[in-house]
Amino acid sequence: MTILITGGAGYIGSITAAKLIQSGYKVIILDNLEKGHQETLDQIKQVAGDFEFIKVDLRDKEKLELALGEVDFDAVIHFAAYIEVGRSVKEPKEFMENNFGGAKNLIEVIVKKGVKKFLFSSTAAVYGHPEELPIPETAKLKPINPYGESKVRVEKLLEKYADFGKLDSIRLRYFNPAGSLNGLIGEKHEPETHLIPLILKAGKGERDKLYIFGNDYETKDGTPIRDYIHIMDLVEAHIFALKHLEKISGTDVFNVGTGTGYTVKEVFETVKEVTRLDVPYEIVERREGDSKELVADPSKIEAVLGWKAQYNLRDIIQSAWEFEKTQ
Ligand code: UDP
Repeated sequence: MTILITGGAGYIGSITAAKLIQSGYKVIILDNLEKGHQETLDQIKQVAGDFEFIKVDLRDKEKLELALGEVDFDAVIHFAAYIEVGRSVKEPKEFMENNFGGAKNLIEVIVKKGVKKFLFSSTAAVYGHPEELPIPETAKLKPINPYGESKVRVEKLLEKYADFGKLDSIRLRYFNPAGSLNGLIGEKHEPETHLIPLILKAGKGERDKLYIFGNDYETKDGTPIRDYIHIMDLVEAHIFALKHLEKISGTDVFNVGTGTGYTVKEVFETVKEVTRLDVPYEIVERREGDSKELVADPSKIEAVLGWKAQYNLRDIIQSAWEFEKTQ
């Protein structure tokens, strides 16, 4: 089976690509290398083996159609997107054009080619300020930032395609992935905006300190709560989802999280314990677009796909640290 992976030079895409190649799938990676790295592509090759690579931007539909006209594949995993919540508030148009516009072009082109299966990277940000915690998939979609909004729009588009019997899809709503593939491939975002790599960088002295965005939330220590998930657990969820996608028609959606939440301060303290680093920090203003608490109810994915997270916060931090030390 051949899988087209968009965003395969990025963090989650590259590790998924490596895992699929190791599991015997043929992989075609499509990436514009705006955020992804050539070095990451080289690492996939070293770790897992060969794949085809197409450099194209999803916003350029003409070039996309030409490029995809030359290859055959059975399913698509669509990762390529802008991901920084804070930037999305400042540049909503760019986020909509890239995340929604890019996905729409991709879907139109693959459906025209006759491809029937689509696995989509969605996000816990679709829930905004959730009314229920832990959050079930049936919770209202009320994003509070353009990043979340761009993902909701793609989810709605996929529902339309499924209603018309044109494309079967699974939407995976990721909570907070972190960690690495054996310390070899990990988070290398530019700019880095994610909590765990930023704590590690402050501990290494690569940043002056960690800025904690607000300690006046209604949580046990005033800092926001997230559900951190090991990247290898998240990648495994894609393998389970792909198998399920082969069997279903229509569309389905799953939260991918552990069901356990930690505050920013708890994560910070755990990083210090695991790494024995001394990490300077400062409490600053809240970050615009941030939700107080996002914790998954993972019971649907556990029951339907038989997937369950295997790693805890300490494992995630240890794994992220193994990678960060090489950077
Ligand atoms: N956070 C923080 N300082 C940072 C980066 C993140 O205090 O330098 C907080 C952020 O406010 C959020 C949590 O850490 O509550 C997780 O943020 P991240 O950007 O890693 O993921 P998100 O949940 O936004 O996808």
